[in-house]
Amino acid sequence: MSLFQCPKCGCRENTATGYYWEAELDDKEPLCSACHTGEWHNKFPRVFYPKGILKTNEVGNLQHIQTGVGGRQLEQYESEEEQA
Ligand SMILES: [Zn+2]
Repeated sequence: MSLFQCPKCGCRENTATGYYWEAELDDKEPLCSACHTGEWHNKFPRVFYPKGILKTNEVGNLQHIQTGVGGRQLEQYESEEEQA
């Protein structure tokens, strides 16, 4: 299981709960469950980040592309709102 950032809304999603592996098979962009189905799965809180700032690192966790920070240090980049 790994985490990824939804390219459409900027939220943090898990590859197991979002539209990710299927997207890869279909050669489509991965999406969070909310962007894919219209409803968030509520298995964990939906947290938004500015779009495009995060990548999935080698161990499957999110990492800030420019600064390289991950884990709890990503809290400083969290936002309440969907990134339009
Ligand atoms: Zn999304």
